[in-house]
Amino acid sequence: MGRRLLLLGPPGAGKGTQALVVCRALGIPHVSTGAMLREHVEEGTDLGRMAKEIMDTGDLVSDAIVVAMVAERLSRDDAVCGWLLDGFPRNASQADALDGILGDGGIDTVVLVDASEEEILARVLARGRSDDTAETTRTRLAVYREQTAPLIELYEQRGLVRRVDGVGAIPEVLCRIVEVLAQ
Ligand code: ADP
Repeated sequence: MGRRLLLLGPPGAGKGTQALVVCRALGIPHVSTGAMLREHVEEGTDLGRMAKEIMDTGDLVSDAIVVAMVAERLSRDDAVCGWLLDGFPRNASQADALDGILGDGGIDTVVLVDASEEEILARVLARGRSDDTAETTRTRLAVYREQTAPLIELYEQRGLVRRVDGVGAIPEVLCRIVEVLAQ
């Protein structure tokens, strides 16, 4: 049935970059809510215009929007043999919705890519995306701390979490992810 993976960790911990390589290696789709939202922004859809305002502050786009996007994406043919979720769920209500979408036999593994807040600020500011200002980054870190980090415990209780040190060069972190996925 393939692999059903969830990548969790603070914003700017390098998840997106790592996720792409892991997905290519495993032949599974990369389901990134951030990337899907940015596509809408680029295409100038109504949703994109609405989302951009929120993304530029660092807050979360509404649950209804991202849940609908994920449900639709996971229902496509190429998601039958597994997927990697990146940037979703980001709060308890999204985690509940995901359980509802997946039903029995949900996620196999949650890879937690960890990095300190200092490390993250430095990395994000070097990246230079339109939502990458110091203020936005602080908001995103606060949102992570308050809403997303509590999900670690939820998935820990289910015995799904594998922790990876996210500090280091991209290939090093990638090797750590590959190692925990091979276990
Ligand atoms: P990063 O990993 O750098 O934080 P993402 O690409 O995952 O970036 O997300 C960028 C922005 O898109 C977030 O700050 C948020 O505004 C929005 N976003 C992405 N995923 C979600 C989600 N699951 N729920 C709500 N908003 C989201």
